[in-house]
Amino acid sequence: MTILVLNCGSSSIKADVFQSSTLQRLRSFRVERVGTEQCVLKEADIETRLGDVGHAEAIKSILNKIEEPIEAIGHRVVHGGERFVHPTRITTGVLEDLQNLVELAPLHLPANIAGVEVCREHHPTVLQVAVFDTAFHATLPRRAKTYAIDQEIAVRHGIRRFGFHGTSHKWSAQQVALTMQVPLEELRIVVCHLGNGASVCAVENGRSIETSMGMTPLEGLVMGTRVGDIDAGALIALAQKEGWSLEELDLFLNKECGLKGLSGVGNDMRDILERSAEGDDKCRLAINVFVHRLRKYIGSYAAVMGGIDALVFTGGIGENSNVIRSRTCQNLGFLGLRLDADANSERPSTSKTVVEVSHYASRNKIFAVRADEEMMIAKDTQALFNELDTVVRPMGIPIAISARHLHLTKRRSRCCLVRGQP
Ligand code: ADP
Repeated sequence: MTILVLNCGSSSIKADVFQSSTLQRLRSFRVERVGTEQCVLKEADIETRLGDVGHAEAIKSILNKIEEPIEAIGHRVVHGGERFVHPTRITTGVLEDLQNLVELAPLHLPANIAGVEVCREHHPTVLQVAVFDTAFHATLPRRAKTYAIDQEIAVRHGIRRFGFHGTSHKWSAQQVALTMQVPLEELRIVVCHLGNGASVCAVENGRSIETSMGMTPLEGLVMGTRVGDIDAGALIALAQKEGWSLEELDLFLNKECGLKGLSGVGNDMRDILERSAEGDDKCRLAINVFVHRLRKYIGSYAAVMGGIDALVFTGGIGENSNVIRSRTCQNLGFLGLRLDADANSERPSTSKTVVEVSHYASRNKIFAVRADEEMMIAKDTQALFNELDTVVRPMGIPIAISARHLHLTKRRSRCCLVRGQP
């Protein structure tokens, strides 16, 4: 039996099939450029052109290729709002609740929901689990999640910080604790997830207590195309002076800023590093602003936790760019963090998830960790599946004569539990 994990982004889809008990990864599918003529489905070296299809059609193509029996499906869901702070079995009611959250993440949630709907249609009796990007940050203390506005207005409109990339931050923190052979509950870790979207998280004793993304994934670091932190007054000035509507401003801040806006050559850090090395001034500035902002966050998160035991780099840039890691770690000796130039030339891989890049004389540790949100989602899905098993047994309901009956039994028992929750 297998667990399928589906990670639907705005223009890409990742789908991994895991053996249900060992969580060995059996198959890995990637769809790129969803919604364009160039949409392509890849599995290992095999590429299938899908033509101009949307998320639903692309997911169907993946499901049609999976012959292995599926026991449970885990979905990455970007936003869980106030309500969803744990992996949750997806019922019709939960799906409706997710639809009501779309305005909190209009770029991502529709793709996540499309994934759930297609899977429910294709595998109506299989357990479906939502794992939320925001869930790991449910532990943010009030002082960290509150914006300085009248709280009556804030509550009325849900204006508060949620944080994102939680699955990745949690995974990295767990991997680092295992490598250090120190319980996660005893560590202060700063995780830098640097991909197209980027965020930093302060993980104290295994809990997220600060993170750089806020109410939406727009706050914080310089990202591929997102602006990150900017004076709210600058937004008012921009809208007034350019005569932009709110929609135009939204598009600008999400799609035209960050590395793309600064460099003028696009959002790909590899291109920007290359041009910068050739002396391109805009690209040099883009990297300087990116690194400077990141260093500010690392320092402030160390201050928030009263120290730091480990600094972690993950995501496409964090895993692969020794230049960005080295620039970021310059002069962090005051935090007991010293990079080793040789070790830093290595990068994590499927066979080595965690690479230590700190110097042997560094008081605290620096790591590069291979992001694997799909594995984390598979673990959460497996845990919920097993938990449902233990719920079913004591109630004396016979377990599975066939897989279909098992799933139906699990579904019913979970429905009762969900209704009992606040
Ligand atoms: P997403 O947030 O879309 O999942 P990724 O985590 O795949 O993004 O990260 C994409 C970013 O990683 C891009 O900016 C890409 O340029 C960067 N990247 C990938 N490989 C390297 C590398 N060798 N050096 C620098 N940046 C890299």
